Amino acid sequence: MATLLIKNGRVIDPASGHDAISDVWIEDGLVKGVGPNLSSPSAQVFDATGLVVAPGFIDMHVHLREPGFEHAETIETGARAAAAGGFTSICPMPNTAPVNDSPTVTTYIIEKARRHAIVNVFPIGAITKGSQGEELAAIGSMRQAGAVAISDDGRPVMNARLMRRAMEFARSFGMPVINHCEDLHLSAGGDMHEGAESVRLGLRGIPGCSEDVMVARDILLAEVTGARYHVAHISSRHSVAMVAFAKLKQLPVTSEATPHHLALTDTGMIPYDSNYKMKPPLRSSCDVNAVVEGVVSGAIDAIATDHAPHPGSEKMQEFEKCPFGILGLETALGLSLEHLVHSRKITVARLVELFTINPARILGISRGTLTPGAHGDVTVFSTDRQWTYDVNKSFSKSRNSPFDGAAFRGGPVATIVSGKIVWQLED
Ligand SMILES: [Zn+2]
Repeated sequence: MATLLIKNGRVIDPASGHDAISDVWIEDGLVKGVGPNLSSPSAQVFDATGLVVAPGFIDMHVHLREPGFEHAETIETGARAAAAGGFTSICPMPNTAPVNDSPTVTTYIIEKARRHAIVNVFPIGAITKGSQGEELAAIGSMRQAGAVAISDDGRPVMNARLMRRAMEFARSFGMPVINHCEDLHLSAGGDMHEGAESVRLGLRGIPGCSEDVMVARDILLAEVTGARYHVAHISSRHSVAMVAFAKLKQLPVTSEATPHHLALTDTGMIPYDSNYKMKPPLRSSCDVNAVVEGVVSGAIDAIATDHAPHPGSEKMQEFEKCPFGILGLETALGLSLEHLVHSRKITVARLVELFTINPARILGISRGTLTPGAHGDVTVFSTDRQWTYDVNKSFSKSRNSPFDGAAFRGGPVATIVSGKIVWQLED
């Protein structure tokens, strides 16, 4: 029987309200107890003095590129990057080739992860066949195969009638519907946020309203259907306000923000550098402030990375031609600490909530807490260690990050999955 004892850390478990210097005892993959002065003679001991010990972080929005684009990332390499970022569970979006729109692909991902991934992988199935937005995917059978949510991420569901049907189905299967909110007619041809900066750079803009109109539509549909609805990578001030309004009306609406939408604005990007090209685009400082305030007020429930690996060959093209998206797993905690905790917007405990129990509840997965009997998934992190991100040392197969060379205060120290240390900071 394998036993791990994590000693003397500040254990923060928002689900139970626990926040004190304690030990965590994990036996046979499950949390056995949390408390002071625990001891077990045969246990492997991890000294967490001066560190935060939290439930394993969950990233509910990643792209692992397998099957189909293994030159950019595989389930194995993406899982390694996740572990190095402090994540014990990740949810890959379905925009692979083939698209995860059937139980066959869902099962393939789960089986591949079981054999090669060092963290837990909970796949998200497509809303429509091939994510083409025309016909519903096999939602019920993907659910049975293990999909935890549905989304056509990368693309929005443009047809409101189809979205309504998807919500009705998802509701009957107890799954949330996650939408990448972007009205394609409004965003067509755009490469960055529409504003003074896009005019100055001579690039076509993606207006904030391309996100807003779809968030508005979906909230109305969530009310009609009673479905659980989640806004992916929220980035505009009006969208944040509308989610706050939906919550006020007690609709089952939630949202996530990415670390880069908390950290960067359209004026902070290096012009024509493809590592600053993503969807939604980096928005105005007014929008960024609204996203940060949304995290503070609770309009935003989770931090998710939208980790989107692209190989150099694709990202090296002219700005207009290169694909959208950046890496996110390894810099997520450092950026979140910087822009939320060190800036005194939220507490460390609230930060832990955004990475753990909130995404677990949205997805309905039994993770995100350290209560006895829970899975022994733990993230150990520092709030003050100085370090610099070197993208060339990334576990990802790709290198597309705007944060290469960025200095951070605080970040992951050890990642534990089912009582096993799967990644640990080398000193
Ligand atoms: Zn997306």
